[in-house]
Amino acid sequence: MQKTKNMNPKNEDVPKAADSPTITQEMVTETNIEIAKRRAGRRGSPIENVVDATCHVCGSGSVSFVDDLAFEVVLTGERIVIPNLTGIRCSNCGDFAFDSDSSKIIDEHTGNKTAGGYECGISTVGAGKLGVYFPKDVLRVMEITKKGKAIVTPLSRRKMIVELY
Ligand SMILES: [Zn+2]
Repeated sequence: MQKTKNMNPKNEDVPKAADSPTITQEMVTETNIEIAKRRAGRRGSPIENVVDATCHVCGSGSVSFVDDLAFEVVLTGERIVIPNLTGIRCSNCGDFAFDSDSSKIIDEHTGNKTAGGYECGISTVGAGKLGVYFPKDVLRVMEITKKGKAIVTPLSRRKMIVELY
């Protein structure tokens, strides 16, 4: 096997057919792996190489990394749309999830909107326990399910954080 790997990283760009007529399939593969590694390193997204993974919703092998997800939420009566987010999406059923980079971006854009939020009543949920019913919009946007679990962290006598995990 002949290897003509160029050690200069500045010349490791995607080979163009026009000015690189001697590129072998092996070299193309090697270069693509290198590019994928560097992209993953730069973006810090551990799911960047996900292609045709199995979907946990519909079971088809159609889950791949995408960079055109959008996050949409209404906070304090203000509609927030964040486009071009990275994550994974099933091309069969449309189920999707944001990666950690996108989650951070979403938090940055929505985390300081504590003045409004959703009003929920506190009521008895059985056996003398008190509970809060999440509004439908919150359930939908945050994809909260029946078996979900959360950590509640009191911040003060009037404020708490509810984190889903
Ligand atoms: Zn699916």
